[in-house]
Amino acid sequence: MFGSHKTEVLVAGAGPVGLFAAIALQERGVRVAIYDQDSRMASRSYALALHPSSLAMLDEIGLAQRLISLGTKVETIGFYEGRNREVELDYRKLEGSFPFLLVVPQNVLEHVLHDRLLQQKVKTTWNHRVQTVKEYGDHLEAEVHKLDQVTLGYPVSVAEAVITKTVHASASFLVGADGYSSQVRNILGHDYDLLGEIGTFFVAEFECDREPDPEVRIVLEEGSTNVFWPIAGRRVRWGFQIDPEDSSSEPVDSRLDSYLRKRAPWFLARPERIFWSTEIQFERRLTRRFGQGRMWLLGDAAHLTSPVGVQSVNVGLREAHDLSVLLANIVLTQASVDSLGAFETARQAEWRRLLGLSGAPKVLDSTTPWVAERVDRFVSCIPASGTALDRLLAQLGLELPAEEHESVDA
Ligand SMILES: Cc1cc2nc3c(=O)[nH]c(=O)nc-3n(C[C@H](O)[C@H](O)[C@H](O)COP(=O)(O)OP(=O)(O)OC[C@H]3O[C@@H](n4cnc5c(N)ncnc54)[C@H](O)[C@@H]3O)c2cc1C
Repeated sequence: MFGSHKTEVLVAGAGPVGLFAAIALQERGVRVAIYDQDSRMASRSYALALHPSSLAMLDEIGLAQRLISLGTKVETIGFYEGRNREVELDYRKLEGSFPFLLVVPQNVLEHVLHDRLLQQKVKTTWNHRVQTVKEYGDHLEAEVHKLDQVTLGYPVSVAEAVITKTVHASASFLVGADGYSSQVRNILGHDYDLLGEIGTFFVAEFECDREPDPEVRIVLEEGSTNVFWPIAGRRVRWGFQIDPEDSSSEPVDSRLDSYLRKRAPWFLARPERIFWSTEIQFERRLTRRFGQGRMWLLGDAAHLTSPVGVQSVNVGLREAHDLSVLLANIVLTQASVDSLGAFETARQAEWRRLLGLSGAPKVLDSTTPWVAERVDRFVSCIPASGTALDRLLAQLGLELPAEEHESVDA
């Protein structure tokens, strides 16, 4: 069975970055269609914080205050080792309207974005996988597979996705916000270079017996980075970097208790109810190119980094914002497709800094020996990017080398 759809920009992937890209395009008067191979949005908190610059972009579309009402403001980050609090970062010293981090679970963010898109009369088409794309001069054509779950087998049943329909979609541009295993990146044929493993994390979200201070705490030990997030009231998350060999069959509560006692002896709140826990591996990756011609990548489809600084998704929102500006210029004012070269240059420059490819930060006179000895561990841990990251690093007495690039102005 065939169906055919025409639009200006087709977005593959309705994660936070794809949803934001669709909103930003629609807001600028560009018609979009958005497809996701899954049947629903994220069900968990995953990437759980918005950087100040993300709040500023969300404010442009009138969503910052709504998210602030649903989240928890964090103004400081404490860095620890053993029992010692070594240094701290103060977001209140940043310029701008949002001098704080907002802890807001990814599933909440996605619902808010999805509601906004519905208000713009754009419905996400779930259970649809962008499968193939061909470029024809002034437009591209995609084959999108509608997937349905069928239950197979007897006596043991297994759910499997089968293709029940093929939709042909035609658009001027394709935005691939389709995550780690991006099909759009595969179609483009761009390498997704592995730049090293960050490691395996044991993550647990739980309710404590008391309300902790609303502060993010990062424990830098030899061989492990560990992070505490206050979520809301007594609900918190800890992520402990572990040796994959350590992966234990010990019950989750005693495992959590043991990591807390060893790595955060100063954390006095005790877990009362564990909502979920998982072990997850994080890598560092960067695409060789963000796109070409009429196909472009955003978010996890283009890069991965440590979860601690929540950079992949927040910088992904920045990418969605900047690409929407350029695409709107092309679609609405006939600007040249070549103007997208500025996007490629700016994105590569930012990620080279964030992934340490342009060198470790310089140690300034004001820095402490503790920071100087760990100079290459802070950039990926700090929930910020751009000038906010530079200012926060300066609080630690560090300076990241600049990468020259053109900026994309709204
Ligand atoms: C357990 C867990 C914990 C995490 N914790 C953290 C954390 O602490 N900090 C942090 O920064 N990050 C964390 N992350 C990662 C974070 O969730 C991602 O960085 C974020 O989701 C990336 O957003 P995105 O929109 O780029 O991609 P995604 O959220 O991955 O969205 C991609 C979407 O594309 C869809 N899709 C894929 N292929 C196709 C196709 N061919 N056609 C149509 N649709 C397609 C997928 O179904 C998906 O909905 C965690 C992830 C997990 C799983």
